[in-house]
Amino acid sequence: MTLANPAIAIDGLYKRYGELTAVDGISLRVEAGDFFGFLGPNGAGKTTTIGAIVGLLRKTAGSIQIFGYDIDRQWRVARRLVGLAPQEFNFDRYLSIRDVLLFQAGYFGLRPRVVCRRVDELLERFDLTAKAHVEYTKISGGQKRRLMLARALIHEPKLLILDEPTAGVDVELRLELWEMLRVLNAQGITIFLTTHYLEEAEALCRNIAIVRGGKIVAQQSTQGLLDGHRETTLAVRLDRPIRELPATPVLRGARFEVGDTLVQVDGLTASQVASALAALEAAGFIVEAVDFKRATLQDVFLELTRS
Ligand code: ATP
Repeated sequence: MTLANPAIAIDGLYKRYGELTAVDGISLRVEAGDFFGFLGPNGAGKTTTIGAIVGLLRKTAGSIQIFGYDIDRQWRVARRLVGLAPQEFNFDRYLSIRDVLLFQAGYFGLRPRVVCRRVDELLERFDLTAKAHVEYTKISGGQKRRLMLARALIHEPKLLILDEPTAGVDVELRLELWEMLRVLNAQGITIFLTTHYLEEAEALCRNIAIVRGGKIVAQQSTQGLLDGHRETTLAVRLDRPIRELPATPVLRGARFEVGDTLVQVDGLTASQVASALAALEAAGFIVEAVDFKRATLQDVFLELTRS
């Protein structure tokens, strides 16, 4: 494994279920060390793509490499490099928290002494030590989410795949989980995350792919995605009803109702905002209030995924 290889390289991935094409020719690169968001509406093909990456389902076509290792031909090494926290809780209901982690370690053939140390570390790190001997059914939803993360990390993977890691948790725990994920990423673990909480993706992810109907419709840095679609709307409240606006180029696309005092203009740069305000004042208006609305990832997402 070298850091020159992308953490995930997907080429021409297809997955068909009978007539339905769930993944329709996805190609994707996730660089080592990235914090990558894989977003899309329900049924877009995110979980199916994840299933293909971790080898849980049979691809119809395409190739996938993890840090340069092909998941079909070199599956043993490839799989060892990946930790998965799936969308649904899938623990054995009769196991204690500690045993959940011990069992998982069993899949990777780790030495018992190493395993015990690692399990204790993870219990501590995810604040589960006090619950170590409690059955999985007797812990809270938030504790289950933390256990999912701990289990995904048992074999010290280099790539962590998280399918909606904060679904159904309260605001405080969500922020706590975000911090845990940031720390893991800062320690060098590549993170590939799906989420329906777009503020979560905006807060955490450096790069984002948006998928719709099994196809990627955008792939860019989070900042680039926001900048490219970012329509800063300037809203100006004037001192008197508007009959007409000055014929200045910056006000060409302005929106207002005749007789109202509000004028709105989309997509202006900072210097254009200054020119627009100056033009309004030169035309005899007094500017009483100015407001800006900047698009969020949610606006970009809706624009790209709405039919
Ligand atoms: P969500 O955000 O709701 O989790 P998703 O983007 O993860 O959605 P997938 O679960 O990958 O979407 O599903 C993609 C499409 O494939 C959907 O139309 C789904 O109904 C279909 N699908 C998923 N698994 C199967 C299956 N085992 N058999 C048949 N169709 C399936």
